[in-house]
Amino acid sequence: MNSATLPEAKAYDVVVVGLGPAGSTAAYQLSRAGLSVLGLEKHRHPRYKVCGGGLSVRIDRILDPDFKAVVEHTIYGVQFTYRGENPFLIESSSPIAYMVMRDRFDHLLVEKARLAGAEVHEGEQVVGLSQLPDGVDVLTDRGRYHTKVLIGADGANSLVAQRLFPNRHQRRMPSLESECGIGQQPAYPGEGQVLIDLGATTKGYAWIFPKHTRLSVGVAEFRGRIGSPKRVFASFIRDEKKLASLEVPEPAGHPLPVYNARGAASSRMLVRDRAMLVGDAGHLVDPLFGEGIYYAVRSGQMAAASVLGSFHDQRRTLEDYDLAVQREIYPEFRIASRVARIVYTFPRLCHRLMHRSQEVISLYYDVLQGRETYQTFFVKAKGMVKASFRELLRDPFLSS
Ligand SMILES: Cc1cc2nc3c(=O)[nH]c(=O)nc-3n(C[C@H](O)[C@H](O)[C@H](O)COP(=O)(O)OP(=O)(O)OC[C@H]3O[C@@H](n4cnc5c(N)ncnc54)[C@H](O)[C@@H]3O)c2cc1C
Repeated sequence: MNSATLPEAKAYDVVVVGLGPAGSTAAYQLSRAGLSVLGLEKHRHPRYKVCGGGLSVRIDRILDPDFKAVVEHTIYGVQFTYRGENPFLIESSSPIAYMVMRDRFDHLLVEKARLAGAEVHEGEQVVGLSQLPDGVDVLTDRGRYHTKVLIGADGANSLVAQRLFPNRHQRRMPSLESECGIGQQPAYPGEGQVLIDLGATTKGYAWIFPKHTRLSVGVAEFRGRIGSPKRVFASFIRDEKKLASLEVPEPAGHPLPVYNARGAASSRMLVRDRAMLVGDAGHLVDPLFGEGIYYAVRSGQMAAASVLGSFHDQRRTLEDYDLAVQREIYPEFRIASRVARIVYTFPRLCHRLMHRSQEVISLYYDVLQGRETYQTFFVKAKGMVKASFRELLRDPFLSS
């Protein structure tokens, strides 16, 4: 559409591009606080999203409890395997994760934003953007808008990042997922459990996350280059005995924009002039297990807080958001990245070590529960792992 033929641009305080968890959360917070907010989403909710839908329970600390209405299973334990073999289960007495289907979860968050007063345009895709001295002009396939602040929450393939944050060197890893129907069969891998296989990929993991009537089955690579994701997925299905007897539909692919220290250092900025990036658009995905929903919600909240600060207090600016991410999220990701380097370089050894030092996994569950951070986890885990590692080196089984 030619912008010259379009009517006068309607003006907003904030336009949010993309209404996944990051965008809906930002739109909700800002409209609740009285700003005029437009949310633009190219699909119509509820829409399918390639995602495992695993939420660590520390989401309880940042989301209102009404999201529990769409939780399909509460998870208490992880069954770890290595190439479909050597299974062991590590359980917690309290929940570690919730399982959601993203169509229902995301729909709930969009409706909350709408109820809080955000104007929501679904089925409207942003196709062009230009920074102006007093804001950003937004062109869609249906209209044109002017906004004082633009929030790019448009996911891993963000147009906002491409157009307004050029030269960002970030890492997008390939991942595949399929949803496999199980009808009314008992939960698999077990009641209140998920399955994680560390040996299925070259430098990543494969998972089975149970939902009411289906299993989300996927593979993701976190470091280096993946050869053929489809081949990796096929061999996971083949090696995982229960899946071999089920009809697993062709997987769908989606990039996983995991945090990468070098990328973040070279293009740290999540704020440029009047535009901001949140969630996947800002590459705010945990580099160890690919958790992105928590950080999407959290970054949406942090961005909204800095927008509100800049509207109400002249001493505050949008850059406060950048500083907040550097303070709260990046130090966590830096440690997660170090752990990922060890786990994905020595997956077999780590599988054995995890079996021996289950207290380290229990400590990691504390991270998922929000009782520990990655930083405190790392300090405590080092001592625990050293002892198990020494024992493991004496184990004749290691050489088998
Ligand atoms: C295979 C796979 C499995 C995963 N499993 C998990 C998991 O189990 N747990 C977890 O925490 N994370 C998981 N993640 C990561 C998680 O899906 C993302 O981190 C999360 O969705 C990020 O939310 P977001 O709001 O930033 O972006 P998205 O959820 O991607 O939302 C972006 C929205 O923007 C819209 N959009 C895009 N472009 C435009 C445009 N030009 N105009 C208008 N709208 C636009 C899209 O339609 C979309 O609705 C997984 C990712 C993958 C790929």
